[in-house]
Amino acid sequence: MILTNEKYIGDTLLQKSFTTDALPFCHMPNRGEKPKYYVSGTHQPIIERKLFDEVQQLINLKKPNIDFTPQTKVFSKKIKCICGGTFRRKKCGEKIYWVCRNHDHNNMLKCDIRQIHDSVFQKAFIKLYNKLREHCKAILVPMLRQLELLSERQRSDNAQLAELRKEISEIKQQIYLLTVLNSQGTLDGAYFTKRTQELDRKLLTAQKQLHASLDDKDSERLDNLRKLIRILEKAEPITEFDEIKFGQIVDKITVLSEKEIRFDLIGGIGFTERIKRW
Ligand SMILES: [Zn+2]
Repeated sequence: MILTNEKYIGDTLLQKSFTTDALPFCHMPNRGEKPKYYVSGTHQPIIERKLFDEVQQLINLKKPNIDFTPQTKVFSKKIKCICGGTFRRKKCGEKIYWVCRNHDHNNMLKCDIRQIHDSVFQKAFIKLYNKLREHCKAILVPMLRQLELLSERQRSDNAQLAELRKEISEIKQQIYLLTVLNSQGTLDGAYFTKRTQELDRKLLTAQKQLHASLDDKDSERLDNLRKLIRILEKAEPITEFDEIKFGQIVDKITVLSEKEIRFDLIGGIGFTERIKRW
């Protein structure tokens, strides 16, 4: 379904396929043998993210539902469906399930994904957490390096930044020239003051713009990835679900199919986990 493909908003799911380590080397689709990385903002989006999100919301128009208990738990609003819907909490006796809003007979979209038991998400998180903790140095650190390099390259390629740098250096040169002329007594004092103030203002504006461009979402994402690495490097293995740890590192979960879910972590990276529904 085109409108839910991550590529359209400039994100990329890396390692959708892989080459086997041993002979004979084969190129195979990745069915969970290798981690999949979901990286946001890897390229210019084809569709603006805002529009994309709006379309997802339209697809996910509210439909009347019955017997849903209030959403209070850690997964509330954090589980999204591949169809664009959000998962809602549903209590059946003592059991808690999560069900896609569009998995409803009255809904035109009739999402096929069936309800998923609470513990499925918990178990998947425990598995992912322990895996990431163990392989933090092998997986996350090289990823951070790669993204840092990519971000550096994009910055130096960025025409707007080059333009701003040029402008700043030109203004500085003009200020220098004025100062030299003034010291030689060739300038009118009032003109010198007026012109210098003008240039100072321009310089300040250009410097602010440059600073704002450098201090963009990119660096926020890298900071978050560094934070994730710091958390995982010090972490102990877990055997039980931990709401705090989940809240610390997971932005959202996407149910990709009946067998696969993806955790989007802070720092804009995602990992798919296979799930057993029952
Ligand atoms: Zn759905």
